[in-house]
Amino acid sequence: MSLRCNAGCSLALVASMLAGCWCSPSRAPEPTSANTLPTPQLMVPVAGVSPNEVPDGFRAPRGRRRIHRAVDIPAPRGTAVLSADDGYVLRLHRNRKGGLTIYATDASQHFVYYYAHLNAYRRGLAAGAPLVRGQVIGFVGTTGNAHRRQPHLHFQVLVRAKDGPPWGRDAIDPRPLFTRAGVASSKTAAVASASGEPG
Ligand SMILES: [Zn+2]
Repeated sequence: MSLRCNAGCSLALVASMLAGCWCSPSRAPEPTSANTLPTPQLMVPVAGVSPNEVPDGFRAPRGRRRIHRAVDIPAPRGTAVLSADDGYVLRLHRNRKGGLTIYATDASQHFVYYYAHLNAYRRGLAAGAPLVRGQVIGFVGTTGNAHRRQPHLHFQVLVRAKDGPPWGRDAIDPRPLFTRAGVASSKTAAVASASGEPG
C-alpha cells in the first residue's frame, strides 16, 4: 500500500517535471520583488542628521495590529526636510495620520518616497516639480498624528506599483539605503530661506 502510494506520487512528480521542462516556455519571471530592483543611494532627508543617527524604527509595533513600515527621524520643529534622491514630486497631500505629506519618486521611477508630519512645504513646491538630492522640500513638524512634543520626519520607501495608484506598494527599510548625511544644497537652501518658511 505504502509502496504503491510512493510510486504513484513519484511518477506524478516526474511527469509534472517533464511537462514543465518540455512544454512550458522557459521565460524569466517579470521582476516584481524589491530584490531585483536597483538599490537607491539616499541622503538622510533631514538636515544635519547622519545615517547612523537614524533610529531603527522599521517594523516597530504600533498598537496591537499595526507595524511601522517607515523610519522616524527626530529633529527640532522647522528643520529642513531634504529630498532623499533625484526625481520629481508625485503629489502633495494632507491626510489624517500623516498630516502634510509629500510623495516623490526617483529618476528611474522604481520607488516612491513618502515624507510625513511636515510643518510646512517649501514655498512653490508642486506635483511634477523636479527634485535633486539635498533640495529643501519642506520642514519638520508634527502635523497628523505625531506627538506635539516629538517633532520628526516620518520617511518611507515604497516599491512603486506597476498598476493601480502610483503611490507604491511594498515598504522597504530605508536605513541600509542611507549613504550620506543630510546636507541642504546651497541653491535650494537659499530659495527656502527667502521664502519666509519657518526655519
Ligand atoms: Zn512614523
